[in-house]
Amino acid sequence: MDKHYSCLECNQSITQGVFNFSVQQFGVPLCIYHQDWINQMSEQSTIEAISLYFELKQRGVPAELEKFDGFKHIDIAIPEAKINIEVDRSSQLQLRTSYG
Ligand SMILES: [Zn+2]
Repeated sequence: MDKHYSCLECNQSITQGVFNFSVQQFGVPLCIYHQDWINQMSEQSTIEAISLYFELKQRGVPAELEKFDGFKHIDIAIPEAKINIEVDRSSQLQLRTSYG
């Protein structure tokens, strides 16, 4: 059976090898380009914010990570719904991304 794999971020199709590696590393399927992107993001964003971002994306929510609103960076923004989410860096928020 041939399964289709695609990047959660850009929907570009990815190979099973890339898929397996990405899910193992990040918990979600990402193309090579977006694996690099999330590696860079993890330097300025917390793992909590990134986890929440992917949780939202997997539910089809058009969220944006580290959006700059002209004044400051917002952890996660959902412009369509005019919602900004600031993830509390001191909290023990435990969000796990799951796929499948
Ligand atoms: Zn991608």
